[in-house]
Amino acid sequence: MRERFWEWLPLSALTHEEWEALCDGCGQCCLLKLEDEDTGDIATLDVACQLLDIGSCRCSDYDNRFQRVPGCTQLTPDRVGDFRWLPHSCAYRRVHEGRGLADWHPLISGDPDSVHRAGVSVSHYAVSEPDVPDDELDDHIIAVLPIHE
Ligand code: SF4
Ligand code: SF4
Repeated sequence: MRERFWEWLPLSALTHEEWEALCDGCGQCCLLKLEDEDTGDIATLDVACQLLDIGSCRCSDYDNRFQRVPGCTQLTPDRVGDFRWLPHSCAYRRVHEGRGLADWHPLISGDPDSVHRAGVSVSHYAVSEPDVPDDELDDHIIAVLPIHE
């Protein structure tokens, strides 16, 4: 990987390795979301996708994620700006918006656990999808993103 690539290269110029390394491993994008059919608002739940290993906040079957989970969405350089549900802390969003990386990002700290210690990852609060009945999902809403935000 090129030295401090996130500071001087656009997302579209990253190698596959650099792109993957940019993910901070927070797991926030793997929380389930519900879209209000009437308003378009997007609610985020504290319920994680069935494939998320909540301890590490990593996908347990990353190579086959799109086959295993049809709702899993591929993040690409040209879509970062469109995915308004990406958390404010997301490294891709930060770089896209010119905000750089936080000091807890593993590329800065050199420690993959720093994202957990900083309280940014979902490891300390998420529950797993198979443990939550469908009729209780509404009780797990933790944030609502209005359509026009
Ligand atoms: S929210 Fe962004 S940084 Fe966090 S796991 Fe998802 S893609 Fe990676
Ligand atoms: S399939 Fe993997 S990457 Fe996709 S949402 Fe689920 S845990 Fe996250």
